[in-house]
Amino acid sequence: MTRRLILIPLLMLLSLANATAAWAQDKGTVEPKPLPPLANPNDPKIGAKELFGRKVLPAAMPTQVLGFYAHGCIAGAEGLPINGDSWQVMRLSRNRYWAHPDMVALIKRLAGKAKKDAGWPGILIGDMSQPRGGPMFTGHASHQVGLDADIWLTPMPNRTLSRNEREEMSAVMMVRNDRLDVDPRVFTSGHLAVIRDAAQEPTVQRIFVNAAIKKALCREAKGDRSWLSKVRPMYGHDYHFHIRIKCPPGSGECETQPDPAEGEGCKPADLAYWFKDSVLHPKPPATPPKPKPPMTMASLPAACKAVLAAPDAKQ
Ligand SMILES: [Zn+2]
Repeated sequence: MTRRLILIPLLMLLSLANATAAWAQDKGTVEPKPLPPLANPNDPKIGAKELFGRKVLPAAMPTQVLGFYAHGCIAGAEGLPINGDSWQVMRLSRNRYWAHPDMVALIKRLAGKAKKDAGWPGILIGDMSQPRGGPMFTGHASHQVGLDADIWLTPMPNRTLSRNEREEMSAVMMVRNDRLDVDPRVFTSGHLAVIRDAAQEPTVQRIFVNAAIKKALCREAKGDRSWLSKVRPMYGHDYHFHIRIKCPPGSGECETQPDPAEGEGCKPADLAYWFKDSVLHPKPPATPPKPKPPMTMASLPAACKAVLAAPDAKQ
């Protein structure tokens, strides 16, 4: 009984945190337990995350993005190699290092640029998508179609991390305790350079960072500042930043999102909302919100059924 009493507030907290992708900090294990088989995989009420979360490899199909960042899937995704010259993938147990080949190419390119421009040994890659995309058990509303990727705001160490370190290591918190600005002891010109390199990629449509980080970028960016329009304040994102690319050519069923408004988004009025006390320190609701029913296959494009049914791609 006592255990239950502790669990309930914890679950409430986690469901709030869910919306902010705070789960990026969750640790993993080098020996994750495989999920048990589903009793009724054809039940139309079953959460789509149960089906997509059980796929270990991409669908052996031509690459195709189906649906929207927050409700969709991907056929023929590509895996990002877990080690590169200037990147390493974190939290391997989550199996979320799959994406559209354009995103994989972008990460490789960005890693090389970060090394050059920030002077970092490389970048650490957090969650991309599941092998066939779709909703996940934990962490993100988006990341469903292979066009989103999280990059840690922690430089890659100058050595290959062990499997265990990739599950256990924590990213560095960039935001000051009062949440009004970055922590100057940890936020450097290198961070600015990596975010700018990502924002200057033509296929990148949006980058999400904590508002305190956006404020710091606004203050510190020199020269061409047009890239700042793509960098959007968002809840969470104080340990990592999130890259979102546009629908790639040839993905007719990919649902586009309008480009962000032009302008740097650096005026006090642009940022005021994010620094309101009610946003910085939200009060827990008087009555806990009812848990939302999980997204079912009916919310996803019909073609995602074929993506689930396809054989595994050979790796
Ligand atoms: Zn993300």
